[in-house]
Amino acid sequence: MELKFHFFPAAFPDETLHSVLSRYARLCGGPSRKAAFAGNRAALSFTQNVAFPCRLDDLVESLPLGADLSVSEIITRHTVLPYYAPFLSDDQVQHARTSMGGDGAGLMLKLGVNASRIEAASRVRFCPACLDKDVVRVGAAYWHRVHQLPGVLVCPHHGISLRMIDPSWYSRNSWQLNLPDDADVQARSHQVIADPEAFPALHQIALHSMQLLTLPLIPISPSALRACLLERAAELALTRGKSQRLELRRLASHMAGVFSALPAAWEYSVLRESHADLPATWVTKLLRKPRHTHHPLKYLVMATALGIDLARLTRGDEPSAQTLKRPPLIEVGYSQASFPAALSEGLEGLCAAVLKLALAGNAALQISSALGVSRVRVYRAIRSVDGGSQAWREARFLSERLRRREAFEAEYGHMQAHQCRDYMWLYRCDRTWLSSCIDRHAGVHASRANNTGVFALLDEKLADQIRACAQRLRTGTGKPVLISRTRIGRELHALSRFEKQLTKLPLCAAALEQECESVEEFHVRRLQWARAKLVDEQRSVNRSSLYRTACIRP
Ligand SMILES: [Zn+2]
Repeated sequence: MELKFHFFPAAFPDETLHSVLSRYARLCGGPSRKAAFAGNRAALSFTQNVAFPCRLDDLVESLPLGADLSVSEIITRHTVLPYYAPFLSDDQVQHARTSMGGDGAGLMLKLGVNASRIEAASRVRFCPACLDKDVVRVGAAYWHRVHQLPGVLVCPHHGISLRMIDPSWYSRNSWQLNLPDDADVQARSHQVIADPEAFPALHQIALHSMQLLTLPLIPISPSALRACLLERAAELALTRGKSQRLELRRLASHMAGVFSALPAAWEYSVLRESHADLPATWVTKLLRKPRHTHHPLKYLVMATALGIDLARLTRGDEPSAQTLKRPPLIEVGYSQASFPAALSEGLEGLCAAVLKLALAGNAALQISSALGVSRVRVYRAIRSVDGGSQAWREARFLSERLRRREAFEAEYGHMQAHQCRDYMWLYRCDRTWLSSCIDRHAGVHASRANNTGVFALLDEKLADQIRACAQRLRTGTGKPVLISRTRIGRELHALSRFEKQLTKLPLCAAALEQECESVEEFHVRRLQWARAKLVDEQRSVNRSSLYRTACIRP
């Protein structure tokens, strides 16, 4: 059926296309796609709340004169393609643009990113503060692109945690054109709960994600990205030698430290998965294999972990890292006394200044920015002194050791030793001190629940959640779904726990046993629902209409 818009609402900054069309539907009288778009086939494609809506040529054709929106403008301003584009190939970006104009055939396959588990773990979200502000400023609540990006759990504008829509409700109502201030959406959303410790990193990731949305659709060279990451990894001693071989254990402990401060759910639960003592496979892939198919969130998490300003690289600069949170310059080295004073004696000017900072344990980057010289000159000055390199290495080690000891002592007060982010490093490089520190604090930790205790607590909490989830599924409106272990596991992000740890979680096992239904029980519920629906719609109730409405075979 031919579709023609008689008017079209002006799109707001950072508004998703789905949101503009939902506002249009609301202005037409309701959230139903059928009513607003007269059953138009193309509208099924461009109104969907997906990362890459398609049939945009058809949409633009149907717009009224003066709507002033081209396919290209829709893609760059109202879809999330710009977020992905820097990490795709030229070919992929071109294909995406053409495909979104057309029927979208093969697009997901071509891009690869949308099929990743990160996307599956992502949720529809909005910021309550943005919502209030938008209503005052532009007179309507709308969905922001940036809040929908994977891994964005905190509003980049307000720094507060976002509200997340219940995915099971949303997937059942994906045909509706809802807006964040709809009563249904408000009732089905909950605030993202994150540790206060996670906020700086989450805010950083949100800001970086937002920066990506403002970039032109130009891919970045994957080798340049890799070089930037590697350079910074080398500065953090996560690589070894000129060939920059990865120090896998050190890298694993560094990443474990980063993830200990991030939430253990949603996208981050996928990214943090790794084998004991080894970094996650995606981490080593980013550092080893320059390719166009890595998900942007992986780069954003890696940049945050290494303290790199990703936006700088995306501007097309030379591969170089800029630290965001540079450690403060150590002015007077505590370790200086342990080095021969003769080392810097008789040196003048720049060389003496470099040596002084080097022997205080500063890294090359800190010295070069403190003195306003290039890093090459810093290295040269240090090498020009006999024994300089060796003394610098030791000074840096002592400086790092002091920093890690202090950080460990601060963290050890409220968490298990092996959960502290510097535990692995200290275990490898400073074991005597680590053992004595743990002995000293043994009293504090003796009363803490052991591993079994942790499981007991988790068991109780998760069992409650299982019962609540089953109850929610059973009483939810709409077509009944099968209440199974898989379904509950997915809803609670606990599927792998159910698969691997159920023997340690007896209450959960019992709750699942009690709550999950057999296929027969499920069919009975479906048929009862179908009967009620048919009666409600005043249609005839017979065997075939019942089974057809219930979508089950007799
Ligand atoms: Zn906000």
